[in-house]
Amino acid sequence: MKGKNLIKGQWTDVTTGQFLESRNPANWDEVLGKVPRSNGQDVHQAVSAAREAFPAWRRLSRIKRAEYLDAFVQLVKRDHEDLSRLMAKEVGKSINEARADVTEGIHMIQHEFGLGRMPFGDVVASEIEEKDSFIRRKPKGVVAAITPWNFPFAVPLWLIGPSLLEGNTVVFKPSEESPLVGQRIVEYFQQAGLPPGVLNLVHGTGEETGKPLVRHPDVDVVVFTGSYEVGSEIKEVCAKDYKKMAVCEMGGKNGVIIFEDADLRIAVNASILSAFKTSGQRCTSASRLIVHEQIIDAFEQEFIKLTRCLNIGEPLSEKTFMGPLINEAGRIKVESYNDLAVKEGGKVLLEGGRPKGKIYEKGFFVYPFVYRMEHNSQNRVLREEVFGPHVSIIPFRTVEDAIRIYNDTPYGLSLAVITEDYRKARVIREECEYGLGYVNLPTIGAEVHLPFGGVKKSGTGIPSASGLVDAVTHKTAWTINYAREIKMAQGLKTEIE
Ligand code: NAD
Repeated sequence: MKGKNLIKGQWTDVTTGQFLESRNPANWDEVLGKVPRSNGQDVHQAVSAAREAFPAWRRLSRIKRAEYLDAFVQLVKRDHEDLSRLMAKEVGKSINEARADVTEGIHMIQHEFGLGRMPFGDVVASEIEEKDSFIRRKPKGVVAAITPWNFPFAVPLWLIGPSLLEGNTVVFKPSEESPLVGQRIVEYFQQAGLPPGVLNLVHGTGEETGKPLVRHPDVDVVVFTGSYEVGSEIKEVCAKDYKKMAVCEMGGKNGVIIFEDADLRIAVNASILSAFKTSGQRCTSASRLIVHEQIIDAFEQEFIKLTRCLNIGEPLSEKTFMGPLINEAGRIKVESYNDLAVKEGGKVLLEGGRPKGKIYEKGFFVYPFVYRMEHNSQNRVLREEVFGPHVSIIPFRTVEDAIRIYNDTPYGLSLAVITEDYRKARVIREECEYGLGYVNLPTIGAEVHLPFGGVKKSGTGIPSASGLVDAVTHKTAWTINYAREIKMAQGLKTEIE
């Protein structure tokens, strides 16, 4: 597959003439395709095209804008399986997870299509009976959407869908680790007949393409999903521009809190799904299992027993639970945190390591690494995002302990509590810091009609998915006077003396 940039409705090669390869993380020898390696000049062309297309797009009926989204969904549904297989190959997710990613993207766009015929503002009362007041949302302008590799279909659509429906135009930069899925998204919009310039695509690296996109003076909003390190740089750059807003969804150090009354089967299953789906490479993956001391031994035994049985292998196999990590850098990072856990005093329960055998030779596979550790605020392994199958089991004694331990990280994205006691669940709901909370469920598995966002290092407070409307529109107040004279609120006199 050879990707191209899409600028003003035209598939174009890059000014540099250089390309990036997309490879299969389960078999690094397999090159799946290549895409342009764009630079600032390409970015400039894409932003200019988006700016030019903006006035006509924002004036188009909201319902007509929504109809393009419906056309997109029909095309994706037709190719659901094919797209899922491409994703499994490109990012190493198990095929079941890749299918769910495509389904989630479809749901996002269906949700936005539905909103096409829904109100996009409010009618509010005035103190003066002859006045009507409205709160109306207006699009911001040109949106730069910069996305990570781990949800290469759903996450871009969380950002692109609401942006387009609300009347913005978009420049999309997919991750260099998943450019082919990114390419397919834009191809479907193109086939759906989206007018030229409304959605533009620039492939490339963060350094050469993402950076100039964030800094381009004609970009109004940067909607970013990815690591805290990159997100914080983006926030800093945008803060210096009087009109540019940065909305960043970033990493997590998520936790499952398991009380002594928990149903052990739910506790173990929820923990395994939280820790090892997508090989622990979800922003909502839990790397901390915070378990009541009364049941920790029993929990640990069952958790380890089941974890040993997980199928690790070829993403396209229906039996695979865990595929490879995305690349060698990701594997080295996980291994270095495994070593650090030992240095910081963790009692190792599962040693991790690289699986042996022919099918694993050319991929970035790792076994789960699990350890028990007393909580200690100084331990980096209990505070930093690892992004792999690396899990601590941390004992606690009281509800207050559980809350303190859970909150003791700079992140605040996803939390699960496993208990049969609704009072305990309520205290956790009120006292813990998170964006997504679950009871008797894993920390993963969000749905698009719910806001998706975190607090602290995890987010900027404006969520993605259905919550993105707050990032890509601004609310305006519009007041009309029907009286034959001017009447003011707050008893303000209108006589001119
Ligand atoms: P990343 O931050 O390395 O890259 C994300 C995107 O930013 C890529 O497209 C990359 O090319 C681009 N980029 C890199 N440097 C840039 C720069 N200086 N300026 C502009 N753009 C730049 O993240 P990743 O490895 O692709 O994804 C993993 C991270 O994403 C994890 O931290 C994970 O928790 C997070 N994530 C968060 C959410 C969420 O909703 N909170 C969802 C998925 C992933």
